[in-house]
Amino acid sequence: MRASQLLSPTLRETPAEAEVVSHQLLLRAGFIRKSAAGVYTYLPLAQRVIRKISDIVREEMERKGGQEITLPIIQPAELWLESGRWHVYGDELFRLKDRHGRDFALGPTHEEIITDLVRGEVHSYKQLPLLLYQIANKYRDERRPRFGLMRGREFVMKDLYSFDRDEAGLDESYQHMYDAYTRVFTRCGLNFRAVEADAGAIGGNNTHEFMVIAESGEAAIVYCDRCDYAANVEKAEATAQEPVPEKLKAREEIATPGVKTIQEVCEFLRIPAGKTIKTLVYRTEKGLVVALLRGDRTLNEIKLQKITDTLQLHLAEEAAIRAVTGAEAGSAGPVGLPKGNLNAKEEELYLVVADAEVSKLINGVCGANKTGFHMVNVNYGKDFTADAVADIRTVEAGEPCPKCGAPLQTARGIEVGQVFKLGTKYSSALNAKFLDENGKSQDMVMGCYGIGITRTMAAAIEQNNDENGIIWPVSIAPYHVVVVPVSNKDADQMSAAEKLYNELTGLGLEVILDDRNERPGVKFKDADLIGYPFRITIGPKSLQEGTVELRRRRDGQTWTPKVEEAAAMVADLLKG
Ligand code: ATP
Ligand code: MG
Repeated sequence: MRASQLLSPTLRETPAEAEVVSHQLLLRAGFIRKSAAGVYTYLPLAQRVIRKISDIVREEMERKGGQEITLPIIQPAELWLESGRWHVYGDELFRLKDRHGRDFALGPTHEEIITDLVRGEVHSYKQLPLLLYQIANKYRDERRPRFGLMRGREFVMKDLYSFDRDEAGLDESYQHMYDAYTRVFTRCGLNFRAVEADAGAIGGNNTHEFMVIAESGEAAIVYCDRCDYAANVEKAEATAQEPVPEKLKAREEIATPGVKTIQEVCEFLRIPAGKTIKTLVYRTEKGLVVALLRGDRTLNEIKLQKITDTLQLHLAEEAAIRAVTGAEAGSAGPVGLPKGNLNAKEEELYLVVADAEVSKLINGVCGANKTGFHMVNVNYGKDFTADAVADIRTVEAGEPCPKCGAPLQTARGIEVGQVFKLGTKYSSALNAKFLDENGKSQDMVMGCYGIGITRTMAAAIEQNNDENGIIWPVSIAPYHVVVVPVSNKDADQMSAAEKLYNELTGLGLEVILDDRNERPGVKFKDADLIGYPFRITIGPKSLQEGTVELRRRRDGQTWTPKVEEAAAMVADLLKG
């Protein structure tokens, strides 16, 4: 391909709207252009990267027996009503009507439509397991589309669905996909980790997310260097710290005028925050929830939602806190609270949940439920109880690994893929059954597995860039090498460049010939910005001495091979 013909409009300035580096570089290097919030055109270079990632994904899906299909993007509302998701999916679902007023949705994910296909076509255990996948656009009306391709409203996803006879079969399909994903992201040249994630309503140890490690990642993860434990912070198990033993003392109420925050309590009483109990009041669709945790800990709302079986959880406003505890937020505490009521009305107390550490705390300090007062020497069981004791806090760096006890590390990650055991959620709702060996009708056991293709492209840039631009991993680079004649007006340079171009192409490499009428500095800048793994420069010296300059983008290393040896050398370096 000749650079003069390539549509890759590079920009010198960093576009103001782009916050993360992948978004900036995709715009600057001429890979994408915005059409609407979260909706982009992929220009030729981006399209090539998408194709490369897709091809790797395809190979790995087929290696595990996946069969490629294409499911419709436009999906009838009836199927979503049948699964029960039409009303729960919310505003993220792009909904539309046809000319007859019938409801449709643009597919954000395809469980309904594939279950509908399979229930119609598959009836016997002999046809299972079945692994079907597609690579196609997905539509999600994200609340905050941002970071370019990272969180779009239209994006490319690979989604595979597995259908098995039983849980054991699902376990096997899941492991196959887990292994395939590991190969995919390794082949894409990415530094990633598979982490245990929260399975939401389905629960259990049923899902892993594949995270590309990057500062700009929206997810926080913890992992262990000593064993293989890794989890999304939303899910990571906290180990309750054992308190230093001491004698239980008698509870006392003390005046703490104007003392509100944990920090103020600690300063006033000269105690560490780990001795205090934080009392948080949440409003949920099932009533008010009181959560108790140590003052030095952070509440994990996902864990609290799970234990309280609620969908909506927001910190309650001052009036609700006062109604439940009888005091201002700064003086709220667990002593004397009423018991929760499972049939509570919205304004009533539904549950009191104590973090496991609060139940272990000896001689703790908390608000006295009387404005301006605190209680010291409070102990769980003796002075207060809760309706439930559970792990409801967020794990922090340095805490012990729940598997092996070594200190946990934290990192930020970009979720590029997820594997998920669905079980019979969709097959039972949509009646997708098969006849087993004994002629008995059974629900199919399903799994679903997604890879964000366009997000993976962005994540690769987040991990591979420098101040000059993108540094593509070879396996997903749009082209392998750019040949730059210093002057396109010099006929000898041009013909040497053409010759080299043909040799490289003949070796199966993907090559750009920068034949543009630009100064060499501009060509070099663009080559670095776009991120070709190798650049070959042909200048006056090449013609005098018969050598070219070969430069590797990743580390700037250069070689000066003979012109006739250059192509083979690049091919070799690309293999390594
Ligand atoms: P997130 O939590 O980031 O919103 P998700 O968990 O809802 O993602 P899945 O339903 O698991 O996403 O989709 C599978 C994959 O599709 C994700 O792992 C991610 O790589 C990609 N993906 C999801 N939403 C988007 C989006 N808005 N833009 C680009 N890629 C996305
Ligand atoms: Mg996900």
